[in-house]
Amino acid sequence: MKNLKIAIQKSGRLNEKSVQLLKNCGLDFENYKSSLITTVNNFNLEILFLRDDDIPGYVAQGIADLGIVGENVIDESQEKVTYLQRLGFGRCTLKIGIPKDSTIQQLQDLQGKAIATTYPNILQEFLAEHNLSAEIRQISGSVEIAPGLGLSDAICDIVSTGGTLKSNGLKPFADVRRSEAILIGREELTENPILCELLQRVQSVLRAKE
Ligand code: ATP
Ligand code: ZN
Repeated sequence: MKNLKIAIQKSGRLNEKSVQLLKNCGLDFENYKSSLITTVNNFNLEILFLRDDDIPGYVAQGIADLGIVGENVIDESQEKVTYLQRLGFGRCTLKIGIPKDSTIQQLQDLQGKAIATTYPNILQEFLAEHNLSAEIRQISGSVEIAPGLGLSDAICDIVSTGGTLKSNGLKPFADVRRSEAILIGREELTENPILCELLQRVQSVLRAKE
């Protein structure tokens, strides 16, 4: 049978837990060192090690059959993929943060303001749901310094402890969406026997954790 391909994060916050989950499923493979693709020795599966941002697109295009990636990244990518299983790790919340001394007090106060983010699509959707229009300033990182530099009135970014907000003179203001790691698949894959076996193993690993 043809091997399936699963894309996981090469390095970063989801890498270790993604590798651990696959190992706990009984899969025997070499972890990422310099090779970006590895074959599982005892299962019909190849593992691709990628930047997380590229995973939804690879899966949507069928270059990978499966992927493990955060919901925030899936949503932002706007790629069409199937949710196969919520994985319970990589939990975080995308929030709007404002300067400690900001005059912004309620959501309506965001109207017409400038908001810096690396998540323009998710932010746009959130604003539309609340009938707000704001100026979205898309930047690619270090979002928390934008208000202090005068680039924006607020930010929208992933917050876990709030430490980064605080040390940049910001405070959390509103939750935009929660996120956790998800096992995704391409859309036509549902009846594949390799996937069924893998999915059963993933689910029993998750059940054993409960
Ligand atoms: P890559 O190099 O693969 O693009 P990255 O720097 O974009 O990595 P990471 O910081 O490794 O991404 O985060 C990967 C994912 O982990 C996030 O997209 C999110 O789903 C999840 N996550 C969980 N907790 C946090 C957190 N405190 N901060 C940021 N992301 C978090
Ligand atoms: Zn990324």
